[in-house]
Amino acid sequence: MGYWKDIVLGGWSLIEGMKVTGRALFKPVVTVQYPRKRLEMSPAYRGHIEFKIFPETGTHGCIACGTCQRVCPSNVIKVQGVKAHARSGKIATHYVIDFTRCSLCGLCVESCPTQTLKFSTEFELAGDSRWDGVVDLVLRMEESRS
Ligand code: SF4
Ligand code: SF4
Repeated sequence: MGYWKDIVLGGWSLIEGMKVTGRALFKPVVTVQYPRKRLEMSPAYRGHIEFKIFPETGTHGCIACGTCQRVCPSNVIKVQGVKAHARSGKIATHYVIDFTRCSLCGLCVESCPTQTLKFSTEFELAGDSRWDGVVDLVLRMEESRS
């Protein structure tokens, strides 16, 4: 009896599956042929954090105050900065973040007093080892401009 019951249940499950496939055949396509075709990203998309570049200075506005480092619940930010002159403010020389442990909570973006942090629209970060996810945003920004 169990044998025939399994056959009936298996057949019914197959019919149910084919019904779902049949319905999908006549619906508009919702996928794209990535990577040949790409969708426009939503403005609300949160990629990893990166520096904003301000047009008036041509660089970021990080003053190495350490606020983002302190508020980060994942403890993944390490920032260092120097003063150009004794009386000037600091400017960041290194801003190292471990993207592999960042939860994209946004606390660093919200707490930055100079509004120099933003979410990127990057969604294709890949690496051969977890250390590829540890990035110095200052070096990265300089490399992207050279
Ligand atoms: S988004 Fe959140 S977890 Fe990621 S670096 Fe900023 S504060 Fe830390
Ligand atoms: S809070 Fe803003 S200004 Fe302060 S260290 Fe972080 S990124 Fe730089």
